[in-house]
Amino acid sequence: MILRTDYHMHTPLCKHAEGPTNAYVEEAIAKGFSAMGFSEHCPLPDGRSAHVRMDEDQLDLYVNEVLRLRDDYFGKMDVRLGIEIDFLEGLESYIEKILAKYPWDYVIGSVHYLDNACTRGSWDKNAKDIRALYSEYFLLLQKLVCSGLCDIIAHFDLPKRTGFPPTDAERDAISETLREIRSQNLVVEINTSGYRHVELRKPEPYPNFDVISEAISLGIPLCVNSDAHKPGDVGANFGEIERFLRTKTGVKLAEFEQRTAILRDFTA
Ligand SMILES: [Zn+2]
Ligand SMILES: [Zn+2]
Repeated sequence: MILRTDYHMHTPLCKHAEGPTNAYVEEAIAKGFSAMGFSEHCPLPDGRSAHVRMDEDQLDLYVNEVLRLRDDYFGKMDVRLGIEIDFLEGLESYIEKILAKYPWDYVIGSVHYLDNACTRGSWDKNAKDIRALYSEYFLLLQKLVCSGLCDIIAHFDLPKRTGFPPTDAERDAISETLREIRSQNLVVEINTSGYRHVELRKPEPYPNFDVISEAISLGIPLCVNSDAHKPGDVGANFGEIERFLRTKTGVKLAEFEQRTAILRDFTA
């Protein structure tokens, strides 16, 4: 397989993933990856969204666990230390402190919520105005892109998990966001969890193939990630992505170490 990394995996610490961490590494080895990384959901202050993320006092435990795996599997698998942050306006300094405290290899940035109190999800099926939801979402995504907090932009068109894919109404916001990603030198994730999310109208990755094509034509490097919440998810549906990328030219893939991106050509 040409795709040799999977950087988006969770652990039971986030309360909605399962399986021992070793099993994720074993799965990555069995599927022929050369590097993999955990990116647990980052804590937030004052109990925000606490039911789907590790607690602040579990950060040491999480980091030590991933570093232990790195040692245990040395020579068999490069285990990288990542984290998935939520962008919430006004909480940037809280996140910055956590990012400064540990030796992260990369930071994945997400917009799961539209408000700072985490009461309005960015893929809320009951949202009354989907077009308004998309426009709020892309404004926040652009703020995340410009925040300097993250290296990789997660599941770019996440609001399609409402069951409503983006339309022509979103085209400008999508292009603007991609251009900003390019100018900030960030990486776009191709997230294969879309194939597992039954709410989507059709099985496809985040973002959809049109957006991936636009990102490639802008020269934006990519990371293909599974967003695994159980060991069997690791590397899932990477074959579909590989087949698609083979039809493109100029595809750049990013690998990460110590928050530095190392780019390579997909065909190399
Ligand atoms: Zn999760
Ligand atoms: Zn996410």
